[in-house]
Amino acid sequence: MRYKSILLFGAPGSGKGTQGKIIGTIPGFFHSACGDIFRSLNLQSPMGRKFWEYSSKGQLVPDEFTIRLWSDYIKGMALVNQFHPESEILVLDGIPRNPEQAKLLEETVEVMKVVHLMCTDLNKMVERLRRRALKENRFDDANDEVIQRRLMVYDIETKPVLEYYPVEKIARVDATMSQIRVLNAIIQILVPLKEHVDNERDPT
Ligand code: ADP
Repeated sequence: MRYKSILLFGAPGSGKGTQGKIIGTIPGFFHSACGDIFRSLNLQSPMGRKFWEYSSKGQLVPDEFTIRLWSDYIKGMALVNQFHPESEILVLDGIPRNPEQAKLLEETVEVMKVVHLMCTDLNKMVERLRRRALKENRFDDANDEVIQRRLMVYDIETKPVLEYYPVEKIARVDATMSQIRVLNAIIQILVPLKEHVDNERDPT
């Protein structure tokens, strides 16, 4: 069985994490942020050091390593009854981050919809990242050079993920709106999807 999922997609600072966390509190959804999984690693361990090696420069962690870590984590969550794949929709945040990862995930994940949080205002994103770096102690956003690199990596490596999925699966949301409006727009997309999944699983 592949995990039924929606992908929250957007540039660093577009608000994927903020929205993902809120959606994860709705019954029937399970939020998984790849960056959070990485950050929970012990930085003294070999895996933690590998994460640091790349993320501190604003680069992506290698694909095989990322997918393996993420898959093990999700399987673990299902095993300890935190994630219920039979009844919950997985909310992907920060993964896949390039077309190769999208391909590697096919085996375990069925992406039903891609919610593209579009942010055309580059300054707004940089501002958000700076603020977050201070608030959450995010070393990867601690200086402007790394922020610029992360935005560039998004443009070059991550954006092509949008071409990996069929156009009818992609829904666009303007990420520059207020948080509650962005949430409202995402929920409008999720409601029919959730009802469809529920009906499929229990047609009575
Ligand atoms: P943001 O919320 O700003 O998009 P994340 O918390 O998702 O940032 O990611 C922080 C860092 O963790 C990335 O810059 C990258 O180094 C690493 N990372 C997170 N997810 C992935 C992934 N799917 N593939 C490779 N690297 C990743």
